[in-house]
Amino acid sequence: MRLSDYVNTFGQDLLRRHGERVHKIAINAGMTCPNRDGSKGRGGCSFCNNASFNPSARRHPPVAEQIEAGRRVIRRRTGARRYLAYFQAYTNTYADVTYLSRLYGEALAEPDVIGLSVGTRPDCVPEQVLELLAGYRAAGYEVWLELGLQSAFDATLERVNRGHGFEEYRRAVEAARRHGLPVCTHLIVGLPGEGREAALASLERVLELGVEGLKLHPLHVVKGTRLANEWRAGGYQPMDLQTYTGIAADMIERTPESVCYHRVTGTASLDILLAPGWCNWKWRVLNGIAAELERRGSRQGSALAPLQALAGVC
Ligand code: SF4
Repeated sequence: MRLSDYVNTFGQDLLRRHGERVHKIAINAGMTCPNRDGSKGRGGCSFCNNASFNPSARRHPPVAEQIEAGRRVIRRRTGARRYLAYFQAYTNTYADVTYLSRLYGEALAEPDVIGLSVGTRPDCVPEQVLELLAGYRAAGYEVWLELGLQSAFDATLERVNRGHGFEEYRRAVEAARRHGLPVCTHLIVGLPGEGREAALASLERVLELGVEGLKLHPLHVVKGTRLANEWRAGGYQPMDLQTYTGIAADMIERTPESVCYHRVTGTASLDILLAPGWCNWKWRVLNGIAAELERRGSRQGSALAPLQALAGVC
């Protein structure tokens, strides 16, 4: 039983389109975040680890060095010989476009790097950056814009101090579409005040706007966050594993087959993870979702009408 028997995973999608395994190499480019420095907000999202914003955490090796380190590990583990540079940490479009062009260019200069995946906030995608990314795509690179939406509900976004609403997300998706850039949207399951119905409603709003990729993540409580204080005071209760796998399966069943799931769970490093402990058992979570879909006799898109199930462009 493999997750990819039930879900259109990004790994399988890359394999189909490129004829060989392609793996992401995560890059920390030492960026910061406008939700911390005051330009969009202060204090950051309530679930985001403060320690990761101290200056030493932002020191980073050169991009080529990070790619070499990732390449060595991935080759040994999987045999993959082509890679996507994944600018993951913080807000990777939040800098001068000349600087970003140098940064992304360093990654693309590696002969086995066939593209980029750039993680950012929906309120931080200026036209110039989209033009830059679209230029790479026009040159034949695989390029993804990863937008952290987390929830489609403004009240929840406000409660966790995201510093943007759904409207900014809508504008970012439309702008990306004008530039021909595929979007992978990040959603968090189990945000304060949210359960299954909210997760499904967020998914529906994202699919209505159109999206090529999705990432799901259970909300976890990590040290150094306001959420950790809420959790200690009993004001936030994380989901149990069974509830999460059930909701993830519900979401997958309601997603057209052509939308790629880049991820269906996520974790934090053990030294900062407070709860829930199961977040750290990645394979148990993935197997739990696959087992749930198998138990239901369903798969991605099976809760949709036949035409909806096939909709999408990925
Ligand atoms: S989660 Fe992202 S947007 Fe929120 S404070 Fe952290 S880096 Fe910034």
